[in-house]
Amino acid sequence: APPSRESVLAELQQGEVKFLRLQFTDILGTTKNVEVPKSQFFKALNGDVTFDGSAVEGFTRVEESDMLLRPDLSTFLIYPQFSREEGERGRVARLICDVALPDGTPFTGDPRHVLRTQVERARALGFEMFVGTEPEFFLFERTPSGLGSTVTHDKAGYFDLAPIDKGERIRREIANKLVEMGFEIEAAHHEVAPGQHEIDFRYAPALETADRIATFKFVVKRVALEYGLLASFLPKPMPGVNGSGMHCHLSLFRGGENAFADPSGDHGLSRTAEQFIAGVLDHAQGITAITNPLVNSYKRLVPGFEAPVNIAWSTSNRSALIRIPAKRGNSTRAEVRMPDPSCNPYLALAVMLAAGLDGIEQQMEPPPAIQRNIFRMTVREKRHHRVKELPTDLREAVEELQKDTVIAQALGDHVLDHFVEAKMAEWREYSSTVHAWELERYLDLI
Ligand code: GLU
Ligand code: MG
Ligand code: MG
Repeated sequence: APPSRESVLAELQQGEVKFLRLQFTDILGTTKNVEVPKSQFFKALNGDVTFDGSAVEGFTRVEESDMLLRPDLSTFLIYPQFSREEGERGRVARLICDVALPDGTPFTGDPRHVLRTQVERARALGFEMFVGTEPEFFLFERTPSGLGSTVTHDKAGYFDLAPIDKGERIRREIANKLVEMGFEIEAAHHEVAPGQHEIDFRYAPALETADRIATFKFVVKRVALEYGLLASFLPKPMPGVNGSGMHCHLSLFRGGENAFADPSGDHGLSRTAEQFIAGVLDHAQGITAITNPLVNSYKRLVPGFEAPVNIAWSTSNRSALIRIPAKRGNSTRAEVRMPDPSCNPYLALAVMLAAGLDGIEQQMEPPPAIQRNIFRMTVREKRHHRVKELPTDLREAVEELQKDTVIAQALGDHVLDHFVEAKMAEWREYSSTVHAWELERYLDLI
């Protein structure tokens, strides 16, 4: 059960907290916050703090602009000190909030509400969804004037050890801060590309994990800044090397038992697992715009860099969109490999859950698992196995999203309309820009 208002108030006093941040996330995934001083703590805990919703991109119309921030008390934490100056200014705590209309009803444009709705839908079927994630990111040098660059801070590779891996100290520091904030870190290591890292934290119910992803990104960026570096979650910052993914390990539990495990089923998987996998594969093209929302996301989803391109599942190889890791029992899960860390975590988990639940409701049958490296298959072989491909760019992904009525419904009109509008504008801007590549390739030649 979440702590009571009184106990949060007491912790705020004991921790000598001076400011309380009320956080929420906009439709595009940016964390927003309203900071209130001590005198407003009581009002804030009561859910009586309002903000001007019309100032938040895609949130609401001017005529209904006053929105309420309803804190979820289970998300309360006091921030660790990231720097000495910060300590002197006084401690800061945060609460993640649900957004409500002035009459108290949940705001349908709130991504947290979209995820809550899917979590409720799963619950009505008797399931709770758990998610573990593996966010990857790059650490880059900053220019002397403090701007970011794509010069990596090291030249190390997968699982390399310090001192080659200068990131080790920073990664540890990030992990320490996260632990202070209640995270359970399972692994932290250098990734394949120079300057690339991964920190994995323990799986939790979907809503908690979405909250944690948002917190995680903030902490990584904040600690890197303290070391004079830039941490970036851009999916493909450099051509020719691996991009950054955010694999999501999904599992459903029923009555405390993993509902994906069945020792007597094929591959040790239950019917529920098969149907869930079938649903995610069936809706893969429709959910990609949400799990991979940037123009840049599609530069990562190309063959040869451990990111998926083909819509297939496997129990053994990493070229598939969904991989089933070897562990069974309560660890039985589906690793969905296409999401990248630029996604809105609430919407991304909501659409994956909606896709999987649709598979269960429609009793879908997955295609046979493909155990070979799909990147090495010929076009004919792929056609034979009916392996389709993910959208190749943002525009195609947005079009697929609009065609997928199940996913559109899960997002709701408000989120869908604003998301599509924002992404099509992004696409138009990108396609009307003349890029360095075009000049390099054509200018002299034509
Ligand atoms: N960086 C790869 C990606 O873009 C994933 C590497 C891995 O398997 O951890 O998805
Ligand atoms: Mg990885
Ligand atoms: Mg993985």
